[in-house]
Amino acid sequence: MTHDVITFGCRLNTYESEVIRGHLAASGQGDVAVFNTCAVTKEAERQARQAIRKYRREHPDAKIIVTGCAAQVAPERYAALPEVDQVIGNAEKLKGESYIALTPTPSRTRERGYETERVKVNDVFSVEETAAHLITGIEGRARAFMQVQNGCNHRCTFCIIPYGRGNSRSVPVGEVVQQAEALVASGYREIVLTGVDITSYGEDLPGKPTLGNMMQRLLKLVPGLERLRLSSIDVAEIDPALMELIAYEPRLMPHLHISVQAGDDMILKRMKRRHTRQQVIDFCERVRALRPDMVFGADIIAGFPTESEAMFGNTLALVEAAGLTWLHVFPYSEREGTPAANIPADRQVPVAVRKARAKLLREAGERQLASLLVSRVGKIERVVVEKPRVGRTEQFALVELARDYTVGEVAEVKVAEAAEGRLLEAPFSCAAV
Ligand code: SF4
Repeated sequence: MTHDVITFGCRLNTYESEVIRGHLAASGQGDVAVFNTCAVTKEAERQARQAIRKYRREHPDAKIIVTGCAAQVAPERYAALPEVDQVIGNAEKLKGESYIALTPTPSRTRERGYETERVKVNDVFSVEETAAHLITGIEGRARAFMQVQNGCNHRCTFCIIPYGRGNSRSVPVGEVVQQAEALVASGYREIVLTGVDITSYGEDLPGKPTLGNMMQRLLKLVPGLERLRLSSIDVAEIDPALMELIAYEPRLMPHLHISVQAGDDMILKRMKRRHTRQQVIDFCERVRALRPDMVFGADIIAGFPTESEAMFGNTLALVEAAGLTWLHVFPYSEREGTPAANIPADRQVPVAVRKARAKLLREAGERQLASLLVSRVGKIERVVVEKPRVGRTEQFALVELARDYTVGEVAEVKVAEAAEGRLLEAPFSCAAV
């Protein structure tokens, strides 16, 4: 019996794949593979289809289930693949019964007509609550991702995510605390709060607790939680309690990833984003004034339709102006069903230009990263050990460790050098903490 869960895309998918793993283990099923897909770019979908074909060649009799945002948005596209047995939606993938129904047959022969509903994908906008799940760990990871929110009420013109995940809904504070307690009890020293639009946390909950309120309660009620990290935030939605934590809470890691997307106000307007270029700069400056060791990451799209050289220049200049270090750069990818994909072809930026702009952005990010890393030489870093010889600092830098450590432990190491995008530990510098 083999149960494989193959995950694409974001941290939320990684968390959900753990829930799927638990359901599969309890299902009593034979050989099953679940592909938890991503729909953010065409490339993500191409990779999933390629992986499905390869898996079928290597496992001719296994059951193949496809789920995740790509399956939610276009179930027929995956149901049409001869390699696929079933397509289930993003809500269905988190229900144990979705895996019970798969009554095994001796061997899978399509001609014999496998007796189950091939496509089970409900209207994701009808989902109003986040189903409670309690995982005790994330397979193969030393830092735990924890879902606190799902879906999104915004409709940025390039984004397919709301059509895959539905409207925003939050995990109640009590369940967040329970989940964190379970992860800390399993030995996790760092938890990453994840969702789709986490800064809209609580809008749907009684009393409307904000993200900052929830985190204050979490840190108070789970004293064993040493390191808390946030996934992507929206600078237009920072609440006062969150700002307070950002400024003064040592257990909140000094690393914020901002959903920036562009650095030109006209492009931001056409993307239907809720912030301006200056607001990103002001936010970073304000946070640095309160917490000088804070570093920023950012999601940026290169080559959004109608983006001129001058507009792109504004985005490129923002990397330095705001001091953005950890860049996730995406060449714009048309997503069927989004408004931006309907912008006429003559106003779309040629694919080669998108890629060239993405390259320039990545290079700008690498320059920022290089200067951050150089500034850490000689310093003592507290790292979570992700692999025996690899640690992750509070500012999210990777450290090549000078000897084997225990995965999951937190160690204090002295930095001897910065090279090729990472730090190197000085030999004989360590102390486990
Ligand atoms: S905020 Fe915008 S980019 Fe982010 S998930 Fe929602 S629609 Fe997509």
